[in-house]
Amino acid sequence: MEHFQLKRAANVKQALDMAQTIAASPQSTPSTRFLAGGTTLLDLMKLDVERPTQVIDIHRLPLDKVDTLDDGGVTIGATVRNADLANHPLIKTHYPVLSRALLSGASAQLRNMATTGGNLLQRTRCVYFRDTETPCNKREPGSGCSAIGGFNRNLAILGTSDHCIATNPSDMSVAMTALEATVHTESPKGKRSIAIDDFFLLPGTTPERETSLNAGELISHVTLPAPMPGNRSVYLKLRDRASYEFALASAAVVVTVSSGRIGHVRIALGGVGVKPWRSREAEAALLGRAADAPAFLAAAEAALQSARPQSQNGFKVELAKRCIQHALTLATQTA
Ligand SMILES: Cc1cc2nc3c(=O)[nH]c(=O)nc-3n(C[C@H](O)[C@H](O)[C@H](O)COP(=O)(O)OP(=O)(O)OC[C@H]3O[C@@H](n4cnc5c(N)ncnc54)[C@H](O)[C@@H]3O)c2cc1C
Ligand code: SF4
Repeated sequence: MEHFQLKRAANVKQALDMAQTIAASPQSTPSTRFLAGGTTLLDLMKLDVERPTQVIDIHRLPLDKVDTLDDGGVTIGATVRNADLANHPLIKTHYPVLSRALLSGASAQLRNMATTGGNLLQRTRCVYFRDTETPCNKREPGSGCSAIGGFNRNLAILGTSDHCIATNPSDMSVAMTALEATVHTESPKGKRSIAIDDFFLLPGTTPERETSLNAGELISHVTLPAPMPGNRSVYLKLRDRASYEFALASAAVVVTVSSGRIGHVRIALGGVGVKPWRSREAEAALLGRAADAPAFLAAAEAALQSARPQSQNGFKVELAKRCIQHALTLATQTA
C-alpha cells in the first residue's frame, strides 16, 4: 500500500478546495480520492489497485439527509448510508424497488457504512481488475483484457467492447436507473445535474473512464422524480447464493397497469451490463400491451437481443430473460 495524506473536510467547500489543490498539481491529477464509507476504496488501496497520494475524508459532511422535494420527488444526500436509505419511510413507501435493491446488496455491516455516492462509484468485481499481476485495460490502459478468453463467468453480455467486458456491480444504481434518477455534483467550475443513464459510460476504447465525473468533482446528492401514480415496482436479484453475493442477473421494474394494459414502464438490468442497463427495447415491447406472459416474453427477448456472451457466461442470456419475465409477473400481480 502506498503512503498517502489523509485530510478531513468539514464542509463541501473545503472538500472541493482540497481536491482542487491536488488536481492542480501536475503530477497528481488522478491521485486524489474522496473517502466516504471506505468499503470499496480501502480494499482497492490495500490491493494497490487504487494508489491515491491524498485522500479527503467526506463521510462527516452534512450530506446525510433524505427529504421530499416540492415537485413530489425526493433528494438523497451523497453520504446517506445505504442502510438508512433502504429503511427510510419515504423510500420504503414510494420507491420500494430502491429499498429492495439496497437490502439485496452486501451485508448489514457494509450497508451501515456504505454511502449513496460511494455506491454509485463502486468498481467492478472482475478478478483481473483486482490482481495487479495481470493485464487489465481498466486498471492499466493499453495493457489488454485478461477476461476475454479468461475467467468471465460473472462478466457482462451487454454493452461490452473489445477492450473491457466488466460488469457494473451496483444493485442500488440499477434501481435508480429504472427510477430515472439524477446525479448532482459540485466542483469549483460549478454545479451539474446528470441523468443517471448519462452518468455511467460505456467502456468503448477507454474502460478506465467509468462515469462522466471529472477529477475533483464531488457528488452532492441524487434526486428521484415523483413516483408515477399507481406504479408498482420490484427488484429481483438472481445470484449464486441467497445473500452477501453480487448479481448474476437482476431486474428493476417500475410499471403502471390500467384496465389490464401496461402504461408507464421502466426496466433496468444488473449483473449483465457494463453499466446499470436501461432497456428501452424491453420498455417499447411492453408499452400499451396486455400485462401477460406473451408480452413479458417479448420484452425479455427484446432486452437481450444485442447480448454478446463470452466463453463462460452464455447462461446469463436465458437467466436475464427469465429474471425480467419473473420481475414483470411479480410487479403486475400485485397491481
Ligand atoms: C464483501 C462486499 C460485498 C458487497 N456486495 C455488494 C452487493 O451485493 N451489491 C452492491 O451493490 N454492492 C456490494 N458491495 C459494494 C458496496 O455497496 C460498496 O462498497 C459501497 O456502496 C461503496 O460505498 P462507500 O461509501 O463505502 O464508498 P467508498 O469506498 O468510500 O468510495 C468508493 C468510491 O467512490 C468515491 N466517492 C465516494 N463518495 C463520493 C462522493 N460523494 N463524490 C465523489 N466521489 C465519491 C471514492 O473516492 C471512491 O473512489 C459489496 C462490497 C463488499 C466489500
Ligand atoms: S473485463 Fe475490464 S476489468 Fe476485467 S480484465 Fe478486462 S479490462 Fe480489466
